[in-house]
Amino acid sequence: MLKVNSIFCGIVIDHIAAGNGIKIFDKLKLDEVKFPVVLLINVPSRKLGRKDIIKIENKIDVDLTMLGLIDPNLTVNIIENDKIINKMTVSIPEEVQGLFKCKNPRCVSNSDGYVSPKFRLAHSNGKIYYQCSYCEELTSYSV
Ligand SMILES: [Zn+2]
Repeated sequence: MLKVNSIFCGIVIDHIAAGNGIKIFDKLKLDEVKFPVVLLINVPSRKLGRKDIIKIENKIDVDLTMLGLIDPNLTVNIIENDKIINKMTVSIPEEVQGLFKCKNPRCVSNSDGYVSPKFRLAHSNGKIYYQCSYCEELTSYSV
């Protein structure tokens, strides 16, 4: 199996469902950074079958709301001195601000550049939607 050195200080995003790793890589703009980053895809996993892993050799702020939106089952490990010092889980966010747009073209959040789109989690027919706080339109979100 592919061997990647453990990281001394940084962040490991683990248990990413196979296929979501590249989406997170893009959202975190990891193609633009100046420190080492590893994206592992299709790693065998007992829990998931296959998973993706991202290793970031630096402390950066990761947006846990955004990560939860893309993949609510992933874990974020903070590494210091070669040891995991903090393990964080994410969940489907109840509230989302500014990460995507309302699908209603007449919504104030689309016409007024000063209004940041704001949503609350909503369920309808067993599916997950985000309801706009301004116009109440339901937006289904997929990255
Ligand atoms: Zn709206």
